[in-house]
Amino acid sequence: MHESSPELFENEIEKNRKECSMTTMRTTSPELESILYKPISVLDHGFIRVVDYMGTDSSIVQAARVSYGAGTKKVQEDRGLISYLMRHGHTTPFEMCEIKLHIKLPIFVARHWVRHRTASINEYSARYSVLSNEFYIPEIEQLTKQSEMNKQGKSSEKIAFAEEVKKILSESSTNAYEKYLYMLNNLQLTRELARTVLPVNVYTEMYWKIDLHNLMHFLRLRADSHAQYEIRCYANVILEILKKWLPFTYEAFVNYRQRTVTLSQECTNLIKRIIKGEKISQEKSGLSKGEWQEFSSIFGIGSEE
Ligand SMILES: Cc1cc2nc3c(=O)[nH]c(=O)nc-3n(C[C@H](O)[C@H](O)[C@H](O)COP(=O)(O)OP(=O)(O)OC[C@H]3O[C@@H](n4cnc5c(N)ncnc54)[C@H](O)[C@@H]3O)c2cc1C
Repeated sequence: MHESSPELFENEIEKNRKECSMTTMRTTSPELESILYKPISVLDHGFIRVVDYMGTDSSIVQAARVSYGAGTKKVQEDRGLISYLMRHGHTTPFEMCEIKLHIKLPIFVARHWVRHRTASINEYSARYSVLSNEFYIPEIEQLTKQSEMNKQGKSSEKIAFAEEVKKILSESSTNAYEKYLYMLNNLQLTRELARTVLPVNVYTEMYWKIDLHNLMHFLRLRADSHAQYEIRCYANVILEILKKWLPFTYEAFVNYRQRTVTLSQECTNLIKRIIKGEKISQEKSGLSKGEWQEFSSIFGIGSEE
């Protein structure tokens, strides 16, 4: 069965402390140390916990100084250097930091997650062990209609039969799990094929190790409003972890990567026309309806002539 009970985590921490009681010479992050190994809940049965990490803000600065020269070492200047590196896309100093997370997540979220190829993954084996009876059932407020604007996403409009949907999801998950155990225990089917009866809301677990540069790429895509709600919940927890681990990098990431927009040449020219006082509508803009909608919502521009 799954090895993710709080008692097992505690034993693991104690065992590791006994085995590795030496005081480290490495740079460490006190805030991240305080949450090391501790699971942070996500969705109904999921969690993220930091298992290990390498480097702090100062490791990024140290690596950058190889190319930029020693300079001063004041805290304020480290912050400025990290901000400069982020602004100008000098990415390799950020690759000097790494983090290893233990993540428990529904399989359909894991399918999004594993598209990010620049990480190392080791996943729970349902060929080797029996999966737990844990399925993701969304909260009522997440049960909304399909968006008409975004073919891939949902709208904010609630469905009328949310309770019924929840019941269907719960019953079909329970039913599938009963069939899974029946095939394993009564029909003697191998675990690797018995699992194929389970739906994609069943939980899995993985260890995920990634460098900071690629972690920020993941966060930019998956903490974004275009990403599915469920993976966003995980990405938001990782953002909080990043804030504790590397406060200067987090600040620069939010400022220069996350809360930013890319403007096409056409959009830049439109802004110049608007600054000069021209009233622009979608028809006059030369943009498609979709692009106009994105552009006008970013800058709060009305569509009136
Ligand atoms: C909102 C959203 C909707 C999506 N919808 C779909 C969908 O409908 N269908 C679908 O299939 N996917 C979809 N995806 C997944 C998406 O297309 C990417 O596969 C995923 O976001 C991983 O991005 P990445 O390749 O940049 O990341 P990573 O795999 O982490 O790679 C990071 C960077 O490394 C470089 N890199 C890595 N591997 C290669 C390579 N082999 N060749 C060249 N460069 C490489 C690239 O520069 C890449 O940006 C969606 C993603 C998002 C965020």
